[in-house]
Amino acid sequence: ADSVRLQKVLAQAGVASRRAAEELIAAGRVSVDGKVVREMGRRIDPDTAVVHVDGSRIVLRDDLVHLALNKPRGILSTMHDDRGRQCVGDLVVERGIVDEHFTGAPRARLFHVGRLDAETEGLLLLTNDGELGHRLMHPSYEIEKTYLAEVMGQVPRDLGRRLRDGVELDDGPVSVHSFRLVDSTPGRSLVEVVIHEGRKHVVRRLLDEVGHPVQRLVRTAIGEVRLGDQRPGRFRPLTRAEVGSLY
Ligand code: URA
Repeated sequence: ADSVRLQKVLAQAGVASRRAAEELIAAGRVSVDGKVVREMGRRIDPDTAVVHVDGSRIVLRDDLVHLALNKPRGILSTMHDDRGRQCVGDLVVERGIVDEHFTGAPRARLFHVGRLDAETEGLLLLTNDGELGHRLMHPSYEIEKTYLAEVMGQVPRDLGRRLRDGVELDDGPVSVHSFRLVDSTPGRSLVEVVIHEGRKHVVRRLLDEVGHPVQRLVRTAIGEVRLGDQRPGRFRPLTRAEVGSLY
């Protein structure tokens, strides 16, 4: 039902006070379902309306949780493991995330967006926001993911160009969006790659293919959401701006 006034919805979402939200609306900075709304009495359905302020998506439902986890090495990306191996679902419980935000069957409601290999560390998103999950997992969406890889050997100067041009893997070609050499010695190198896709083990396979097997792999960013100095095993809620940037 179109039941709640837009300025109230914005205030409830924490965007601004109701008074300041009215000013945003009057200034033409708010859109609903793709159209700028300037009239003040407008009512919307907060469960279905898509609202942007200055082009950023505003999360209206207050039961949505968006978390960034620094997944430690050796832990499965799943919410549950039938064989009892340690998984992200266990961390959710251990860290009290469940008690804080959920009642009922929490593991079933909170899900991980995509996966990291057990041996890969770094940024993994968890949410109960089904729409966002669908979006991020859809092949056409292609959000950029940034990985820091410690690899064997000294990488040649032209590696970046080669990876950008594309490398043939068993299941088709892959290319990186950008490449940065962070550090290189004869024995090992540290490289950063930004890649759009999510085929299984793709970063490891790519670097293996060019003769530099990965020793350690950390995902440091998903789109504009960065891992920063978040410690392994710790969760943090995404900021409103971060959530908006993923939509
Ligand atoms: N590429 C990999 O090889 N592993 C991951 O976990 C993610 C991307």
